[in-house]
Amino acid sequence: MAVENESAEIVKARIDKRNYKRIVLRNSLQVLLISDPDTDKCAASMSVGVGYFSDPTGLEGLAHFLEHMLFYASEKYPVEDSYSKYITEHGGSTNAFTSSENTNYFFDVNTDGFEEALDRFAQFFTKPLMSADATMREIKAVDSENQKNLLSDGWRMNQDG
Ligand SMILES: [Zn+2]
Repeated sequence: MAVENESAEIVKARIDKRNYKRIVLRNSLQVLLISDPDTDKCAASMSVGVGYFSDPTGLEGLAHFLEHMLFYASEKYPVEDSYSKYITEHGGSTNAFTSSENTNYFFDVNTDGFEEALDRFAQFFTKPLMSADATMREIKAVDSENQKNLLSDGWRMNQDG
């Protein structure tokens, strides 16, 4: 997707040798690119400005549930869990969390697997595949995670997950 507008003004520490660039895509997605020649991996993170504060009454846990569901499959990569498998097979790891006003998804991977990993990752957000079967499974998973968290004061203070 073409870049709508660029802003070169990034304030960084004098000892920070990384290169930064901020771009805004035509769909308004704000992107911060960071180049670090000293690292041996690539990584990406997507922060969505919606969290559990946006859960509708009667559907508590919806944001967290969606966080779980997006990882499963997309129209382009319909095999369930193939994203996680791809990341693992290319020396990386992936996770996500839902907080009060944000949901964050992230992964790291060996450089040779980055391009495809990023495409698989991007497909969650553009064309996720949510089968009825996976939906039922994840409703149970999110519920049991929540039951477990209810027993922990730390989680009760900060309902991330
Ligand atoms: Zn969870």
